[in-house]
Amino acid sequence: MTKRVLVTGATGRTGALVLKQLRQQSDQFQGIGFARSSSKVEEIFGSTESFFLGDITEQSSLETALQGCSSLVILTSAGVKMKASSTPGAPPQFEYEPGGMPETVDYYGQKNQIDAARKLGVEHIVLVGSMGGTNPNHPLNQMGNGKILIWKRKAEQYLIDSGIDYTIIRAGGLIDLEGGVRELLVGKNDTLLTNPPDGIATSIPRADVASVVVQALQEPDARNKAFDVISKPQDAPDAIVTRDFAMLFQQTTPGI
Ligand code: NAP
Repeated sequence: MTKRVLVTGATGRTGALVLKQLRQQSDQFQGIGFARSSSKVEEIFGSTESFFLGDITEQSSLETALQGCSSLVILTSAGVKMKASSTPGAPPQFEYEPGGMPETVDYYGQKNQIDAARKLGVEHIVLVGSMGGTNPNHPLNQMGNGKILIWKRKAEQYLIDSGIDYTIIRAGGLIDLEGGVRELLVGKNDTLLTNPPDGIATSIPRADVASVVVQALQEPDARNKAFDVISKPQDAPDAIVTRDFAMLFQQTTPGI
């Protein structure tokens, strides 16, 4: 039987990759998208078929979209942008769109999704977050005074406490490079960020994050786990391309 999976943030850069991967595996998954812009859906997917349009700040649209789903993938996030600088040469200033602060999107928006999923009997939620959340003074928290990593982490704890099976994937810096050609490394508590092996860049292709999400939907060892993930550089001499995701998830642990 195929697993019906709702992907929110499906017009986002990682969310779209997850939905495309799920649809490529139609023998196993029925991939449903959730997005707020029909024109963006059409641009990326060609049509709005198997999509629900709505906003994660409104729980009712999420409840409609989650009907019949056994899993939910949360890939929504507030997006910060650079303000047009009024003073030439001044340091850049950042802002969130009106109504799009991290407290609203990354905490209440995620909480709405978790609450709707619990109400509808969803069995498993895969949430993609970000590394860096153990440091309240992380520069990302200062941007637009959004405290984004603090709100993301609060939502992660809400998910853990919800009683629904969870997989929390905290990615390193996202890059748009080919997936499936690197060794992936998992960790916890930002140790890969503060002390990366061999001083490698703490980044990972979005396509690899998407694969980790899709594998997490299938592998029992990914259930009730939260972990950081980065990739080794493609040309690292000792790298062994990650293909055994069960083994990767066996290295991860429960709890925030
Ligand atoms: P992204 O492209 O910014 O996508 C975010 C998605 O959230 C978009 O589809 C956006 O919709 C949607 N969204 C925002 N507010 C919404 C609302 N109120 N209702 C419905 N949808 C809403 O994401 P990404 O760059 O692939 O990142 C994926 C995740 O990884 C995020 O949680 C991000 O914080 C995290 N991460 C990022 C980095 C990095 O280097 N950028 C590093 C580590 C982790 P629209 O398409 O309509 O705008």
